[in-house]
Amino acid sequence: MEIAFLGLGIMGSRMAANLARAGHAVRVWNRTAEKAEALASSGCTPVDSPKQAVAGAKFVVTMLADPQALQDVALGQGMVDAMAAGSLWIDCSTVDPSTSRRMAQEAATRDLKFLDAPVSGSSGAAANAKLVFFVGGDAQDLESARPLFEAMGARTVHAGAQGAGASLKLVNNLFLAQAQAAWSEALGLAEKFGLSQETVNEAILPTHVAPAFLGFKRFKIESRDWSPEFPLKHALKDIRLALSAAKDAGMDLTQLAAAEALYAQALSRGFGDADISAIHEIASRG
Ligand code: NAP
Repeated sequence: MEIAFLGLGIMGSRMAANLARAGHAVRVWNRTAEKAEALASSGCTPVDSPKQAVAGAKFVVTMLADPQALQDVALGQGMVDAMAAGSLWIDCSTVDPSTSRRMAQEAATRDLKFLDAPVSGSSGAAANAKLVFFVGGDAQDLESARPLFEAMGARTVHAGAQGAGASLKLVNNLFLAQAQAAWSEALGLAEKFGLSQETVNEAILPTHVAPAFLGFKRFKIESRDWSPEFPLKHALKDIRLALSAAKDAGMDLTQLAAAEALYAQALSRGFGDADISAIHEIASRG
């Protein structure tokens, strides 16, 4: 199947490689061209522009940083104008639901189909095709794309109409970001109480109180290894998207607003490109 894949960062590079591994013909484009060229060894075909990538493709997958990047590529660089009529655009970037619905509208006016399909799971899940897709859009479109989702992930959740995948993803990430910060605050207090990090980890992480992802992140915190799986700047982006979307929905997220201040501080201290777990450097200090 002819597929175009645009956006080859931490997640996109691994997802595109899995599509090629499953036997699909994948044309890849990335703003920084070296990342596309690096995927030639995985069986993908690097191209020089979004237009070149999507020309004649039946499926187009985007995995870009944020709403601005998505608009720059899809509209600014002519991606949607170059897509073949009737082809399906699957946007896996984490954006807000109103951006997804706007992109769906841009697609519809050009006789294109659109699914918002952000993912749960980080670089390891992307590499091992264990992602969970949160999909918004038409059920038939989802079915037609199932071979792609199965090549990249372990589970696909149909959340509802266009924008519902993005909504579910923001709900997921507002919890994730707060849980990561709350855990570090708890570890900070434990240290003040004279408890070792190992005691806390061994006692609490296996219980139902702790979210499962902390079982992985504990090792990054223990070794202060802030190499990025999920860049902290993207966690802050998601917090801000959730705060703004909540406001539009008539809700103030007071806990999330407190978390936003912590993540903003981490960004200003130079941890933007570090892993989300680097929030430990701020949240554990009180
Ligand atoms: P990343 O490594 O920072 O990659 C971001 C991608 O967006 C790169 O391909 C980057 O191109 C591109 N980009 C940024 N601004 C652009 C612009 N103005 N024009 C064109 N391309 C632009 O991020 P990632 O971790 O792969 O995440 C991608 C998306 O998935 C984000 O929305 C993130 O929130 C979401 N997500 C991430 C994870 C995770 O654990 N990492 C998990 C679930 C969801 P360059 O290479 O040229 O910079």
